[in-house]
Amino acid sequence: MTGTCFNIQRYSVHDGPGIRTTVFLKGCPLSCTWCHNPEGMSRELELIVVQDRCVGCGACVEVCPNPPVVDPGGRSVTDRRSCLRCGSCVDVCVAGARRLVGQPMTVEELLAEIERDRAFYEESGGGVTFSGGEPFEQHEFLLACLRVCRERGLHTAVDTSGYAPRDVILEAATLTDLFLYDLKLLDEARHRELVGVPLAPVLENLHALDEAGAEIWIRFPLIPGVTDSMDNVNALGRKVASLRTRRVHLLPFHRTAADKYARIERAWEHAGLEDVAEDRVKEAAEALGAMGLDVRIGG
Ligand code: SF4
Ligand code: SF4
Repeated sequence: MTGTCFNIQRYSVHDGPGIRTTVFLKGCPLSCTWCHNPEGMSRELELIVVQDRCVGCGACVEVCPNPPVVDPGGRSVTDRRSCLRCGSCVDVCVAGARRLVGQPMTVEELLAEIERDRAFYEESGGGVTFSGGEPFEQHEFLLACLRVCRERGLHTAVDTSGYAPRDVILEAATLTDLFLYDLKLLDEARHRELVGVPLAPVLENLHALDEAGAEIWIRFPLIPGVTDSMDNVNALGRKVASLRTRRVHLLPFHRTAADKYARIERAWEHAGLEDVAEDRVKEAAEALGAMGLDVRIGG
């Protein structure tokens, strides 16, 4: 069985306890306007172009069946609509400005990568976190990986939007140690508008996991003008207060994803947003703390 990863991040300390390897699986059914991993949205291969590295040699133009244009500034510009994701330009780009992400891997190949840092997991109480995209988009691969990790005594976490079939999520609960569960907007209409899918199944799955006794840490991205209204913060607090779990991680918006959008040559509607103000984070944390929740800033 193979899955498609777009990144394997070692020494991660923000995706669960201890030192972890975070595996980013490709594909997501959501379309959050603030997505920080836009290269993970599609299940398809994605061509990344780091323009700062391009030296304008034109080698990619020579080999490409739908040639990119090298602009007067010497930078290559790819027509994404006609790009075949064949990788020919990657092979000839000596500057390392081009690469394809999303190559298939078997469970064993991925586990071999994960096992390389076993000593760090054991020393720090860490393990492996499956993220995305939405990892349940590749649920057969995900469940297979979780099963093998459990057999080998590796701690696992699944970072999910919760938008997945109930039976699959509950099966994962029997195989994983922790869910990092994203809640974004608590209003159904706003959720459909800005996340692109209905909210109800996300909340129903959350309650199902909670009732099944799963360990859950809620993750709440604070996006200025989108999720950070006190109405939304308070609604989120009331929802979490109705669960067994008390732990909420506030994830303040930052602009670091802007580079990623540039690398896949896609416009980002939040490119002009400033990082969320510290006062705003503090206000949200205090409101949630006053509801008896265990609030942490960051992942
Ligand atoms: S091959 Fe690489 S360095 Fe040369 S023009 Fe294309 S992207 Fe730029
Ligand atoms: S991946 Fe293939 S089609 Fe796309 S720009 Fe590179 S050479 Fe051209």
